[in-house]
This record gives sequence, structure tokens and C-alpha cells, in this order.
Amino acid sequence: MNIIVCLKQVPSTTEVKIDPKTNTLIRQGIKSIVNPLDSYALEESVRLKERYGSRVTAISMGPPQATEMLRDAISSGADDAILLSDIAFAGSDTLATSTTLAKAIVKIKNYDLVICGRQTLDGDTGQVGPEIAEMLGIPFIAYVNKIEEIANGKLRVQRMVEDGYETIETSLPAVITVVKEINVPRMPSLRGLTKAKSAQIPTWTTQEINAEKETVGQAGSATWVVKVFYPQRVQLAEMLKGDPETQAKALVEKLREAKLI
Ligand SMILES: Cc1cc2nc3c(=O)[nH]c(=O)nc-3n(C[C@H](O)[C@H](O)[C@H](O)COP(=O)(O)OP(=O)(O)OC[C@H]3O[C@@H](n4cnc5c(N)ncnc54)[C@H](O)[C@@H]3O)c2cc1C
Repeated sequence: MNIIVCLKQVPSTTEVKIDPKTNTLIRQGIKSIVNPLDSYALEESVRLKERYGSRVTAISMGPPQATEMLRDAISSGADDAILLSDIAFAGSDTLATSTTLAKAIVKIKNYDLVICGRQTLDGDTGQVGPEIAEMLGIPFIAYVNKIEEIANGKLRVQRMVEDGYETIETSLPAVITVVKEINVPRMPSLRGLTKAKSAQIPTWTTQEINAEKETVGQAGSATWVVKVFYPQRVQLAEMLKGDPETQAKALVEKLREAKLI
């Protein structure tokens, strides 16, 4: 069984700066980490490898420095890693990101299961997993908290819903997104660290994934950021005076004036 795990590098801080001209993230000088929920996707793929003897390939679309994150993925148990990096991928929205990842998955061929995190720390849309499945034309299951069994070309999982969980079975290949309840990610092993040090991590560009230039990056994005702003924080506090009944009446009056009731 071949598993592909999608990992995204995200800024390690919430204090990201926005370029006022392009409305895009300024990534220079900001330390990056693997998207925390993607660590659970990686761990689950390595657990499936141990259970079923699968091969795990980690992929990421990002700048050249994402190679280090992919190297870390190898030290934690991935067999191979591929970086999707090209100046043409810059400014991708979720549609263009998913197109790039789906094209790379098609090029990898022979995949049985694609595992993504539930959502990212920065973009936070949760759209990429389902979009990849749609583009590949294969089933998709979100919020997976347990992989029960993979047998006879079928996958049975538990997925979290608001008031409990559902058990779902699907045919393979399929795409799933996982939640943090699924496992506890491991630390890299000494053997993994040694393997990662010398691992070859190829970089695929638009050409390698056979993508049309108009379908990736800003050109392939269906959405664009028109305006980015920090919300103004206005703090107004007023202490109401008098006995509790007077205070309650004054409060109701103020809420009415503000059209809140
Ligand atoms: C309207 C709009 C405009 C944007 N414009 C820009 C821009 O100009 N420049 C810019 O840098 N960003 C831009 N972004 C952010 C960019 O679209 C997202 O970073 C990217 O599409 C991934 O979406 P997400 O972070 O919401 O991922 P989610 O859908 O929340 O991610 C779910 C999972 O998909 C996988 N995944 C997601 N992204 C990747 C990846 N790159 N590689 C591998 N796996 C991945 C991971 O497993 C992840 O856990 C824009 C976003 C929007 C909505």
C-alpha cells in the first residue's frame, strides 16, 4: 500500500506581517514549522506503514526551505519526500494549491491513501483535503479520529461529528483529513535522523507535474486578497451606579439604545 501525506510549512508565530502592496504574507525572517495538525497525518501514515508494510511519501508545496521540514518527516518515518517548488506556484489560493498537490499525486501514481491534516494554522480553510479528492475523483472523509481497518481494497474509519463519531467505510484510493485525537506523534529516531541526513529530496516544478502555468499560483487562483487589515480594538467600559434594580434598568436601557435587544 502506498500512502501520500501532505505537509505544509507554516509560520511559527501568530505575529505574521502582510505586504501592504501585494496583500500576501511576508515569510522572510520568520521561523517556520510543520503545520501542527500535519504531524498527526504523518504519524498516522507511519503507523499504517508499521501495521500494513506501506510506503510513505511526504509531499509539500512551498519555498525551498520546506526541504528541511520534509527531511524531518523522513527522520520520523517517511520513506520518501518530494518538494513542489516553483516561482510559478507563488500566490496560490486553495484551488491552485490543491491543483498543484493533485497533479503531483497523479505523477507519483499507484497511491492508495492520501492523508492531510484537518486544517492549517495560517490559511485555516480546511479546503485543501476535499479539493484534492475532488480533483482526483476519489472518495473523501474528513475529521478522521481512528483508522479501524484497511482490507480488501477498503478503508474503515471513525470520524468525529458534533455529538459523537461515525464509522464510515470507503473504497480505496481515498483522501482523508485527520484530527489531533487520532494519535500522539513520535520523536524522530536515531536511525531516522541518520537516514534523513543523506536523503535525496527532489524538487518538482510546474513542468515536472505536467501542470499548465495558468492553473497554478496566482494565475490559477479563483480568489485573491483585496484588502488585509488589523481590526481596531475599541475598549469602552462604564460602571453602572445605584442599587441592583437601578443598575439592571440602566443596563436594559443601554442595550436598547445600542439596538442589542
Ligand atoms: C483568497 C485567498 C488568497 C490567498 N492568497 C495567498 C497568497 O497570495 N500567498 C500565499 O502565500 N498564500 C495565500 N493564501 C493562502 C493559501 O491559499 C493557503 O496557504 C493554501 O491554499 C493552503 O490553504 P490552507 O492553508 O487553508 O490549507 P487547509 O485547507 O487548511 O489545509 C488542510 C491540509 O491540506 C494540506 N496542505 C495545505 N496546504 C499544503 C501545502 N502547501 N503543501 C502540502 N500540503 C498542504 C495539509 O495536510 C493541511 O493540513 C490565500 C488564501 C486565500 C483563501
